[in-house]
Amino acid sequence: MRIVFLGPPGAGKGTQATLISRRLGIAHISTGEMLREEVAAGSPLGKQVKGILDAGELVPDAVMIEVIKSRISRPDCGAGFLLDGFPRTVNQAEELSALLGAIQKGLTHVIELKVPEEILLERVRHRATQGAGTRSDDNDAVMVKRLAVYREQTAPVSAFYKTKGALFEVDGLGAVEEVQERLEQLIRG
Ligand code: ADP
Repeated sequence: MRIVFLGPPGAGKGTQATLISRRLGIAHISTGEMLREEVAAGSPLGKQVKGILDAGELVPDAVMIEVIKSRISRPDCGAGFLLDGFPRTVNQAEELSALLGAIQKGLTHVIELKVPEEILLERVRHRATQGAGTRSDDNDAVMVKRLAVYREQTAPVSAFYKTKGALFEVDGLGAVEEVQERLEQLIRG
């Protein structure tokens, strides 16, 4: 299983990716988490990306592609992986195809979690008050920025896969368990 989850910030991708990857016994690759860990560790990569994350902007494609390349070649990806937060630009999607094509292992599922924009803002506001300070990019101004970046740079990634007839769309509204059930049914076929 080599799965990609797409969807705007606040769609519940991270929550579902954690649950589904555990159920399927595959690696959960959250690029946002990986970058936040680098920032917390104060690594050179962390120092390079901190300002970008805090501004709600995207880390350059070339950097992200290197991050993904080394991550998916690790042994825990042998049984498969679930990408959460990558690809975020059409260029990243093309690079990912090339990367997987080279090892003759294409994606098995590309799934977009659909949630209306007014609900997204509500959810992230809630997360910002609940998590108080756990994520420096969870506040209104940055959220608005992240939604704009999503519309401009990441929504075209869904279109990219849709044109290839490779996109599944799943309703992201409802309880966590309901959404999880929808995703599992789709993936297990
Ligand atoms: P979200 O809550 O929007 O799902 P993530 O945790 O996936 O956020 O990512 C947090 C931040 O990390 C993004 O706003 C962006 O700055 C950076 N980031 C994560 N993945 C990528 C990527 N594939 N390309 C560029 N930047 C990324």
